[in-house]
Order: sequence, then C-alpha cells, then structure tokens
Amino acid sequence: MDMTEEEPQDPRVKLGLPPLGTLETVTYIEDELVRVVAPNASPNTLDGTNTYLVLDRVGGTALIVDPGPVSDSHFSNVKDVLDKAHVEASAIFLTHHHLDHSETARLWSRDLGVGVSAFLPRLVFGVGRVLQDDDLFELGKKNIKVVATPGHVHDHLAFRLDSGHLLAGDHMLGRSTSVIAHPDGDLEKYLSSLAKVKKLGNQIILPGHGPEISEKLSDSVIDYYIRHRHYRLSQIVSILDRDLAMHVDDITREIYGPDLPDVLFTPAKQSTRASLTYLVQRDVIEVDEEERYILI
Ligand SMILES: [Zn+2]
Repeated sequence: MDMTEEEPQDPRVKLGLPPLGTLETVTYIEDELVRVVAPNASPNTLDGTNTYLVLDRVGGTALIVDPGPVSDSHFSNVKDVLDKAHVEASAIFLTHHHLDHSETARLWSRDLGVGVSAFLPRLVFGVGRVLQDDDLFELGKKNIKVVATPGHVHDHLAFRLDSGHLLAGDHMLGRSTSVIAHPDGDLEKYLSSLAKVKKLGNQIILPGHGPEISEKLSDSVIDYYIRHRHYRLSQIVSILDRDLAMHVDDITREIYGPDLPDVLFTPAKQSTRASLTYLVQRDVIEVDEEERYILI
C-alpha cells in the first residue's frame, strides 16, 4: 500500500523566480522600505541574508530588521541607504537568534548608538526591548506589529507593516521551503504559525532570504508550505510501512534522495526529526530500543 500523497508543487516555480544569486544588493521595495542583501550566499542562506530598512524620511529615523552577518561591505551598504535618505537608525529588530540574522547586531548597535530588540532576552542589547506577540511600534506615521511565528525556531518573530508588508525572517523563504530546526524548532507550532500568517491576509511577504512573495501569490505559497509539510509526513509513514524500522539518517536520505548536497544534510535531518517528533506525539510511530522508528 502506498500512502504517499502527491508531491505539492511550489506555485512560484512555474511563474519563474529570478535565478539564485541575481538579487540586487540594494532594492527599494517601496520608497521607504529597502532590502539590502548581505554577502553570505550559500546553500543554507540562498542569495544571502536580507536586511530590511524601514525608513521614515520625515522624522529622519529608520528601523533595521536583521542586520545579518559581520561584514564591512554590508554595513557600508546599509549606511549608504540611511545616509542617502538623511535618516538615522533608531532601532534594530531581530526575527530570531540564528547568526546569519543576528551576528552583527551588537556591533551595529554600538556603532549606530541604538538598541537591539528581540524575543530572547539574551539577544536584547542597550536600550532594546524584549518583543512579544502583538506588540506595536511606531516609526513616524508607520505602525509595526510583532507577529510571533515560532516553528523554524522557538523565538521566531515576523514584523507586519501597515502597508501589508510582512518581514518574515526564516518563517518563509523567497525560494524553496524553510527548515524546522529541531529540537529548537517544532512542526506543530510551525504549522500554526503558517495558518496565523495566512489569516493576516493581503500581504507581500519579504523573507529573510531570497526574493519577495507578491500579494497575489502569498496565500498560495503559504498553502504550499502547509501541504509540503504534510507531504513529508506522508512520505515517512509510507517509508516505514515498507521498511518497518529505520534510523533517522536513513529516513532523511530516503526522503531527500541522492541529489541532496552534503552541506544540506544536517538541516534536512533537523526537519525530518521535527516530522518524526510530530508523528510520535500523535501515536502514529514510535522509537524502538535501537532508536529506529516504526509504525504503531
Ligand atoms: Zn536565516
């Protein structure tokens, strides 16, 4: 019996995404919303980490979301945007603790004289604040709402502007799908966070890596992310139905196939562990004394 569902297709693929690595370093998404791509492209970070700048030209201030990795050229690209707009940074927000988003936060905080705000108290620095779901911030006439989106990791936040732009961090990516970084990440929470973001409606998703997801596509991409996770669950059930007992490494290899680059094996295994935990919690599978997974 084959219990695998049909593999869902990413609605962005047939429409044609800009090729990997072709994102401009600096893009004005809007006059007061800028994406600056850090020079840390890799299989794990796609085109590099996106730093977003929300500008308030009238008030002369700006919010920096996810400063990214330590890099002189990235810092000077961000400074250029701020200088050209005649604004000064007033705050740094972090979507989550992963270093490709947060590594340079304290350095920039010192250099720019602003605080770092995040969900995890250990990341908060200077005059920054601990951020919680539904917190609201004003930047000139703009409102910025904190949307807790645990799942990729437990401290993950997204930031919604009243223009409908959602600064999504690694909750959703501009290409392919996100990793559930088990054990910090959690599939059940991730699926809830996807549903929560879909409910916000009418949005342009600006991910932490890769190009933006248009308002027209955002709902269908969220649906694809949900279906993709259920497809992975069905693959595991199908594999265990056939092979009876397997270790997590073998399940991961089976799911992702021989083309998975070595450097992506660890994140793939984390996502597989998240799926296995989800199925164990629902009494679909269990672990034997040799740490092999079996159907119940
Ligand atoms: Zn990231």
